[in-house]
Amino acid sequence: MSANETSKDCGCDVARRDLEEYLRNEICQGNQADIREHLKHCSSCQDEERAARTLTEAVSRACRDEVAPGDLRDRVLSRLRELQAEH
Ligand SMILES: [Zn+2]
Repeated sequence: MSANETSKDCGCDVARRDLEEYLRNEICQGNQADIREHLKHCSSCQDEERAARTLTEAVSRACRDEVAPGDLRDRVLSRLRELQAEH
């Protein structure tokens, strides 16, 4: 077991907690590198990232288009649940 390797990977908990900030580029550089590194190795967090990215983009598009974000969020979330059910 290498202390160096374990310290590089922030783990699923941290990656998921910081995922939204990461996707909005609101996270500090150091944490961003940690999360990117974790995503490379963790397929379940990659799925999570794809889902969160879809949601983030859909919501920001909705805000620009002035569609009711509440409705859209519900639609996107139910679509994501469908996608996840396909796994
Ligand atoms: Zn993970």
